[in-house]
Amino acid sequence: MDLGIAGKRALVTASSKGLGRGCAEALAAAGVELVLNARGAEALEETATALCAEYGVSVEAVAADITDEAGRAKVLEVAGQVEILVTNAGGPPPGLWTDWEREDFIKALDANMLAPIALMKAMVPGMMERGWGRVVNITSVSVKAPIPVLGLSNAARAGLTGYVAGTARQVAPSGVTINNLLPGIHATDRAVSLDKGAAAQGGMTVEEARAARLATIPARKYGTPEDFGATCAFLCSQQAQFIVGQNILLDGGATNLSM
Ligand code: NAP
Repeated sequence: MDLGIAGKRALVTASSKGLGRGCAEALAAAGVELVLNARGAEALEETATALCAEYGVSVEAVAADITDEAGRAKVLEVAGQVEILVTNAGGPPPGLWTDWEREDFIKALDANMLAPIALMKAMVPGMMERGWGRVVNITSVSVKAPIPVLGLSNAARAGLTGYVAGTARQVAPSGVTINNLLPGIHATDRAVSLDKGAAAQGGMTVEEARAARLATIPARKYGTPEDFGATCAFLCSQQAQFIVGQNILLDGGATNLSM
């Protein structure tokens, strides 16, 4: 399907690997020019070079921490005006409710709530002026089914979800859609670290922890950055113009919800 977005410009944050890279790659395949970001310059440059070579689109890379103001300013300066914004950042560490102090919550809020809000605040006005824009925030299944060991993530992402629910409806009259994509377990480094955590907590091997997790997923597999990216690119397409303020779960059926 032609997504109708060739030649548009996108900023995809936290995109040197994993789900962010999956989104960047699917947009590149649709002919979108990219600005990529991550903290580590080496992996980021490798990704930028690979996507440029494979899809023939222009790819700029900005090494910066998207969760702090100075890092964001650097990224926004290079990005300039974009028609598509995909927000992403690393997820907070797992733990117990008794582990977390105010500083831990502030860090999680900065990464998984306030950074995407700041990026939207910077980019969406220009999209509204030009009458077209797409924003996709990478959040988590924990928005619909909170994960006990990820209390920091549950808290921060719930805040972002509430913000998007209102904002998406305020900007939609100007041709801008904002939606959230909620990953269940996907085969990335983050999944490996979550499986290691579950193994340590349950006194199992990592393979046993993975098998136990697979048994809870009706599709009996982990998602991939490619599946995830394809859905993101569709949400950024012309055809997705009527999808507004939604929380779209990609979890192989693991969360048993009727709505
Ligand atoms: P990943 O494979 O670990 O990749 C994370 C990417 O984000 C890397 O490119 C990393 O590069 C970049 N990054 C991390 N912190 C950053 C920062 N402060 N500023 C800029 N870039 C940053 O993780 P993932 O699995 O793709 O997960 C992406 C998001 O989805 C996370 O928030 C995660 O919690 C959430 N999620 C993932 C799953 C899953 O199963 N994979 C499930 C639910 C939710 P650098 O380290 O070089 O910065």
